[in-house]
Amino acid sequence: MAETAEQVHARVLAVTGSGGHLAMPAQGGWDVFPWTVVDGEIAPRQLPPPADEAPRWGESPDKPCGLCAHGPDPERVVWEDEHWTLSHPGGPSGLPVVLLLEPREHLDFGQLDDDRASEYGRISNRLVRIIEALPNIGRCHAMRYGDGGSHMHIWFVGRTARLTSVLGSPTIDWDDVIPPGPEDVWREDLRAIATKLANWGGDARA
Ligand SMILES: [Zn+2]
Repeated sequence: MAETAEQVHARVLAVTGSGGHLAMPAQGGWDVFPWTVVDGEIAPRQLPPPADEAPRWGESPDKPCGLCAHGPDPERVVWEDEHWTLSHPGGPSGLPVVLLLEPREHLDFGQLDDDRASEYGRISNRLVRIIEALPNIGRCHAMRYGDGGSHMHIWFVGRTARLTSVLGSPTIDWDDVIPPGPEDVWREDLRAIATKLANWGGDARA
């Protein structure tokens, strides 16, 4: 069972103490990070002029698709079937559930045929329902960006219920900010998700 909001909050307080702040994550140094500090106030960064977009992974010989080159990491796969794999990012993080759904074939979102698109719809609908039914999970966000890699990868992110400042589009930013939770708790939730998803088809691997 995922940690309660009180457990997560206590874990943060153990790091920061009362009135302290957690460390700035790596995103603060990214070129696309939209905020800066001007005269002590947070402000939008200056918008750089237009430029050609860099190729994504899988779109250029010197940027091959890692997933197609090496296949899904068996240590990370929590569920799979003939056409899809569901993987975790490698270990617990600030949010209780972070999963990636990817087709085995190199396709981007928008390139699925009707059969794959139907499967994607069924799997994602079940996955959201399963994750949102877990104790202490408030909502499962489903997200596709695709600006880094051209192999379709959809994020499914369960957030802690009643942690009411970790809400909406900034939720994912907290994943790298909140200290990671216990590994046994995280693995127990992954097993529950994989087992329930496999009730409909495919195989649980967590
Ligand atoms: Zn690929």
